[in-house]
Amino acid sequence: MKSEREYIKSRNKPKITEIKNFGNISVYGIDAKADDVLAVLKSIHKKLLKNIEIVYYGNVGLEDGKTGLCSGEMLYLSDKYPEQLQKTILHELCHSLEKTLRSDIEDRDELKKEFLGKRRQLFTALYDAGYQNLRKEWFDTVSFDKTFDDLLFDNIGTEIVSQYTQKIFPTPYSCSSLNEYVACGFELYFSNGKTLLKSCPELLRYNQEIEKAKF
Ligand SMILES: [Zn+2]
Repeated sequence: MKSEREYIKSRNKPKITEIKNFGNISVYGIDAKADDVLAVLKSIHKKLLKNIEIVYYGNVGLEDGKTGLCSGEMLYLSDKYPEQLQKTILHELCHSLEKTLRSDIEDRDELKKEFLGKRRQLFTALYDAGYQNLRKEWFDTVSFDKTFDDLLFDNIGTEIVSQYTQKIFPTPYSCSSLNEYVACGFELYFSNGKTLLKSCPELLRYNQEIEKAKF
């Protein structure tokens, strides 16, 4: 996501039309109602908000189809997808917690194993469906890789990938990397989508522990 972060940095300062505070968090509306964000923040456990200081909401300059972005202590949220706002906030909050939980994710061999097992299943499903230029080793890693992500979601296409991830991953984008797997699981877990984690016992366990943990 480096290119997007650079893009955000290079943009002109957003035109803020509204400022609201929620605890220690400043919510800036950019041609959008900050109250929409406040309503969601109120429903989220405070500990999950601990690494966030500023939220920009509205016309924040994200590329089409992208609902949010976390950069340091800031969240950028588009107002183009109001029905997804709660899930987007939860997803980006999970990224904001990565620095707090990083070693916890990295030390979880069973979670990694579960993710890699699913990536291998996806490779086999796509390969058998005729995508035989794919190489197994591209699927055999937990890190995010822009080239691999573009190959899946631009070259093969979101529709096809969604079709093949459906029975394997909780959401199509959760196949992107271990961090995205965790963020997509977190988003579902804390927004009443737990049933979608039935086939991901390690991801479910991880979120149950986050829910109980003090940090
Ligand atoms: Zn993400």
